[in-house]
Amino acid sequence: MKIENIDMPKIEDPRDVILKVTSTAICGSDLHIYNGLIPQPEKMVLGHEFMGLVEETGSDVHKVKVGDRVVVPFPIACGYCYFCQKGLTPHCENSNPNYGPEGGQVKQKGGALYGYTDMYGGYNGGQAEYVRVLYADFNLRKVPEGLTDDQVLFLTDIFPTGWSAVDWAKPQGGETIAVFGCGPVGIMAQKSAWLRGADKVIGIDLLPYRLKIAQDAANSTVINGKEQDPVQVIRDMTEGRGADIVIDAVGMEADRGLLDKVSATVHGEGGTIEVFGQAVSAVRRGGTVIPIGVYGTSYSNFPLGQIFDKGLRLAMGQATVQYYIDDLMELVRMGKVRLDDIITHKVPLDEGVAAYDVFNKKEEDCLKVVLNP
Ligand code: NAD
Ligand code: ZN
Ligand code: ZN
Repeated sequence: MKIENIDMPKIEDPRDVILKVTSTAICGSDLHIYNGLIPQPEKMVLGHEFMGLVEETGSDVHKVKVGDRVVVPFPIACGYCYFCQKGLTPHCENSNPNYGPEGGQVKQKGGALYGYTDMYGGYNGGQAEYVRVLYADFNLRKVPEGLTDDQVLFLTDIFPTGWSAVDWAKPQGGETIAVFGCGPVGIMAQKSAWLRGADKVIGIDLLPYRLKIAQDAANSTVINGKEQDPVQVIRDMTEGRGADIVIDAVGMEADRGLLDKVSATVHGEGGTIEVFGQAVSAVRRGGTVIPIGVYGTSYSNFPLGQIFDKGLRLAMGQATVQYYIDDLMELVRMGKVRLDDIITHKVPLDEGVAAYDVFNKKEEDCLKVVLNP
């Protein structure tokens, strides 16, 4: 990873805009590339959480003009294909040359994502001064007057992602919702759980400083998975049954021992499904498990029999950001939810390389890094 001067991005399609980036964030998803679990051998500008000012518009852009201040959803979606019409924008049929119905294979991925490897379209991302944004009319959302970058930046990914996790579980209100992971995504899921009428919200992590932020920013009851068995604690809190909804906001890069790492290597697996397994144990019978953390390969110890016996529902995938973003922007505008209280580091883009290292190692009590070009 390094900072380099490259050519200015250009309008390549009449529906493009060039955006002058004012704020961009580092995501837990960027760490999968950084750590090589999702490989990117060629040079690429990373970054899928970004916002800024419209610098230039293509000839077929009608809804935004030069100077407009906008946020950009991270999935690149055309807006008119079969999947976009259904609100399933991460599955857009038109944005990724490596798209395919089979899925899970290098040449059979879903729709493109900004700055997220050649497999996901090969588009440069927004951890840069300028970025090319595709299908502008369908994707760009103008920021209402009076809101700062920090207040709206996380509408690009982590708030809609946390919200997707909760919404896919179809809560009716009154549920106990447990969220493994108190990273940015986990905390946004916890905030969303309250907004959707949860009765109890539980956050699990291994790092005390992250548990503290979950307590303060999301008002969650927290469990330190290093000190207690989270499955047992969740059962104790729910008359032995387990939580109604369990969200896995950790994904394949969960903390694990050497043995697990060796076994994963032997089986050609990307990371581990240990936390997913805990989620399946911690949910009640007939409940719902939502892996919103990323998983990259097949996994040999997938607990299918347990899932069948417990009669669970599962839903997962990349967040359907465009489907939710307008309603969520309105929640922010009305002050019903605060998103910027998870920012721990704000640094100039020039210091981005060091910031990746701090975020990856979880040093300096780092939870969320915002870079300002
Ligand atoms: P993060 O790395 O900051 O957070 C992960 C958290 O999990 C950390 O706080 C870590 O301490 C904790 N953790 C690790 N092992 C654990 C364990 N065994 N038990 C409990 N907690 C454990 O990342 P993030 O930005 O919050 O993202 C979380 C996941 O969500 C990543 O996999 C990321 O790729 C994914 N993600 C998915 C989408 C989507 O659309 N589905 C969007 C954004 C991010
Ligand atoms: Zn992200
Ligand atoms: Zn589409």
